[in-house]
Amino acid sequence: MSLSERIDEAIRNHESWVLRRQKGIPNNLRLFVLACMDERLPVEEILGLQPGDAHIFRNAGGLVTDDVIRSAALTLNFFGTKEIIVINHTECGMMTANGREIVEGLRAKLNVDVERVPLDPSLPELVLTEPGAFEKWFRTFDNVDEATVAQVEFLRRHPLIPKDTIINGYVYEVETNRLRRPHQLLSRRVNTRDELQGRQ
Ligand SMILES: [Zn+2]
Repeated sequence: MSLSERIDEAIRNHESWVLRRQKGIPNNLRLFVLACMDERLPVEEILGLQPGDAHIFRNAGGLVTDDVIRSAALTLNFFGTKEIIVINHTECGMMTANGREIVEGLRAKLNVDVERVPLDPSLPELVLTEPGAFEKWFRTFDNVDEATVAQVEFLRRHPLIPKDTIINGYVYEVETNRLRRPHQLLSRRVNTRDELQGRQ
């Protein structure tokens, strides 16, 4: 290939990169990742992702919230994405307090009626009027394995997520730097006789 042909190819590749959304080119792996914002969770590294590979959504807990549904619905229905991976993790901050404690903490710190604070500054219609709903909005959880299974189910059942989407969830163990399937705790199988012998 001549130098000018290589230059033209580089120009075309760059154009495809820049104009991906306009040209309807999906991300490289047709993948949407939902993960916790925790700084100990190296999402790209543990999934082996390169720039351009995936749409990555991170929030507190890696939980299916309204904006996850909004973002996933867009990429799955219009941007060519076919697969969702959810990653929750051990020692998540969302297991260190419950919703009521968070609301009390915010009240004490900010001295405002937090239940009347707009949830989305550009969408004042979005308010939670049911008693206790604001507490629930923080979406704390008690068990990371159950939380992971629940997020996958929320996505599978949601009417804005196409039925043929491949959806899987994993727990990232901060202590071992490994991913595992929910409820597939290897330490149980090596540390207890019952698990070792295949009994529950
Ligand atoms: Zn977390």
